[in-house]
Amino acid sequence: MPDILIITNAQIVTCDKDHHVIASGALVVQAGRICWVGLSDKLPASWRDGAHQLMDADGDIVMPGLINMHAHCGDSLFRGLVEDLPLEAWLNTVWKAEGAILNDPANCHLGASLGFAELLLSGTTTVMDMFWHADQSFGAAREAGIRLASGGIYFDPPGMDGLGSERRDQMAARLFAEYGNDDACFVGTLPHGAYTVGPKALVAAYGLAAENDGFFSIHAAETRAEQETVRASYGKSVIRHLASLGILSKRMVLAHCVHVDDEEIDLIAKSGAHVVHNPLSNLKLGSGFSPVPKMLARGINVTLGTDGPISGNDMDMWLTMRLAATIHKGALEDAAVMPTKQVLHMATLYGARALRAEQHLGSLEVGKRADFIRVDMRGPHASPMFDPITHLVYSAARSDVRDVFVAGRQVVDEGVLLTLDVGDLCARSTALIPQITAALKEAP
Ligand SMILES: [Zn+2]
Repeated sequence: MPDILIITNAQIVTCDKDHHVIASGALVVQAGRICWVGLSDKLPASWRDGAHQLMDADGDIVMPGLINMHAHCGDSLFRGLVEDLPLEAWLNTVWKAEGAILNDPANCHLGASLGFAELLLSGTTTVMDMFWHADQSFGAAREAGIRLASGGIYFDPPGMDGLGSERRDQMAARLFAEYGNDDACFVGTLPHGAYTVGPKALVAAYGLAAENDGFFSIHAAETRAEQETVRASYGKSVIRHLASLGILSKRMVLAHCVHVDDEEIDLIAKSGAHVVHNPLSNLKLGSGFSPVPKMLARGINVTLGTDGPISGNDMDMWLTMRLAATIHKGALEDAAVMPTKQVLHMATLYGARALRAEQHLGSLEVGKRADFIRVDMRGPHASPMFDPITHLVYSAARSDVRDVFVAGRQVVDEGVLLTLDVGDLCARSTALIPQITAALKEAP
């Protein structure tokens, strides 16, 4: 990695809180951080004339890497295996398939690598991931060069990782100890849901997250059936249940929140908890429409996620942005909801806020980590360009992503992943098909 990297001739979409765009900009990176950003012709002469690595962006857009706040990358191994079912029936088959191969940590590592390759190539530089054998995910993330938020998963029945519920705290604590000081990692605890994890374990997982100043993320209020199950067990809805346990707080990242009423939205808003909107997953699994415009209006920090590659079959944050920007306009018959600039923030700055890392990530500003991407917006689907932000939300695709940098290190060059052998990952994943299908045939 060069000492100083200078990008010139870029349209810089900073994603700062005022949505500044620099039409002909330059970005200077030193020791993994942004140390200067501004107009190219104002670049200090000392840098312009120094012997630094220069990159001419040739008028392309340079913007922060996207932040995907909810995924299960290891499930890349099962993409397309089961379709056209609602969440509960779908999960039954998914769990059988996972059970067939995920007791082997190497397969979790492979699935995570495959997912991280997809994410980096499409411009995502940070992902929050919930999966078995999170130590494998952290290892794979280091190899891939992606920033990872993950940690100990909680699940009351015996898990695919062979751990019983009694060993979950131990595993989660180990992950905090091992990865808590790594600048590329965010460590937390991730209980699967209030219908699969009992109150005692939820409180323990939250306590561990608080003790280590980590995040706590959980699937919450995704489907009506989940609400009914939780109501039958605890006499209250999912959000009220979490609030009554005293664990709804600013370290909480709630994935989904599709079925929440006004009072629950108030509870979330007052607690400072963050929400992850996963429009593709909610649409494909028939889960419903999350009241995102209402939550945003109430001041809740709503971020974006793709969910796993078997729920929405795609971890493409560009598609996610476009769906988030459009489906609520259609459902509410109101073109003014989900303003374009705010949707771009949901995929960048708001994700950083949910990670409580707004001072380090989510926008291109001096002092922040140099996580940025170069997007070619000169194709017929994006020319002419009156406003780069509009094109990024409504017209850009992952195939437009040319270069990707994480902490100043280039991990994608002209659409080629530099850190992993994508062909090898695909071949090894394909080789697992017979084992998975055989297990499904045998399972009752
Ligand atoms: Zn999920």
